[in-house]
Amino acid sequence: MKAHSKLLIIDDEPINIRMLDDMLRDKYEIIVALNGKQALRRATTLPPPDLILLDIQMEGMDGYEVCRQLMKNDITRSIPVIFMTSLTDEEDEKKGLELGAVDYITKPYRPSIIQVRLRNHLELKHQRDMLDRLCSHDTLTGIANRRSLENFLEQEWQKAVRYDDELAIIFMDIDHFKKYNDNYGHLAGDACLRDVAGVLKGALNRSTDLLARYGGEEFVCVLPKTSLAGALIVAESLRSAILDQAIPHQYSNHSCVTLSFGVVSARPATQQGCPTDLLEAADKKLFEAKNQGRNQVVS
Ligand code: GH3
Ligand code: MG
Ligand code: MG
Repeated sequence: MKAHSKLLIIDDEPINIRMLDDMLRDKYEIIVALNGKQALRRATTLPPPDLILLDIQMEGMDGYEVCRQLMKNDITRSIPVIFMTSLTDEEDEKKGLELGAVDYITKPYRPSIIQVRLRNHLELKHQRDMLDRLCSHDTLTGIANRRSLENFLEQEWQKAVRYDDELAIIFMDIDHFKKYNDNYGHLAGDACLRDVAGVLKGALNRSTDLLARYGGEEFVCVLPKTSLAGALIVAESLRSAILDQAIPHQYSNHSCVTLSFGVVSARPATQQGCPTDLLEAADKKLFEAKNQGRNQVVS
C-alpha cells in the first residue's frame, strides 16, 4: 500500500472533522471540505484522494448529491466513498449504498473499527488501481498500451467529429531493430525500447497528446486538434530527439538508433472512415518512409 494514502473528509461541522482528523492523521494525509461544492473541487485536485469520508446532512448540497456528482465524473468515479453519518435508518443506508458508496458507518463511531474498515477499503482501492494500470499500460516501457491507444483514438475521433477539429497520427517504428536484438541481445533490446519510449515521451509537449506502444518496436502518437503541418513539426522533433540521444547501434546505417515516421491528419467530421482507417493510412506512410531509406518522416 502507498506510504500515505490521501483521505478527503467532507463535513459541514468542524467538530466532526476534528474528531476524524485526530483519529486518522497519524496514518493518512488528510484534506477537508466544509460543503458539497468545495468537496467536488477538492476531489478533482491532483493527485486525487484515495478515499472519501462523506457526511450526509449538510447545508446546501447534501452528501447524497455530492456522491451522485462524484459518480458522474470520470475523474472521481473510481474513488471509494464511505458515508459517515448519524442517520441510522435502513432506508438511508440503502440509498447511500445504492448511490455507489462502498460503506456506510453510523454514529457512535468506534475508532478501532473505523481504522480497520478504512484499511480494508484502501487495500482494495490500491489493488484496483494496479489492475487498471496493468490493463492500460505497457509493462516494459510504462507508456500507454495498444488497448489505451484504441480507446483514446475512438474518444478523440468522436470529439473531433463533434467540434469539427483535425486529428493527427504519427506511426513510428525503430529501424533495423531485429539486428539490434540479434547483435546486442534481447535484454539490451528491451532496454533500448525503454530508452526510446522515454525520449519520445520527453519530446512531446502537450499533455493532451498520447504516446503508446503499438506493438514490438512500433509506437503511435495521437495528436488531437492538430493539422498535418503541426504533426510534421512534432514528428521531426521526435526524430531529432532520438538522434540527439545517439543510442549506439553499430549494425544500422547511422551507427545509432533511428526511427521512421508515417504522419497523417484528418478532419473526421467531413471525411468518410473510422479511426482504424487513420491508423492504416499512417502505417502506409511509415512503410514509404522505410522504403525511402528510413530515419525520415513521410506524410
Ligand atoms: P525495419 O527497419 O524495416 O523496421 O526492420 P526491423 O528489423 O526493425 O523490423 P522487423 O519487424 O524485421 O523486426 C522487429 C524486431 O523487433 C523483431 C524482434 O526481434 C524485435 N522485438 C519486438 N518486440 C520486442 C520486445 O519486446 N523486446 C525486444 N528486445 N525485441 C523486440
Ligand atoms: Mg523496425
Ligand atoms: Mg515493426
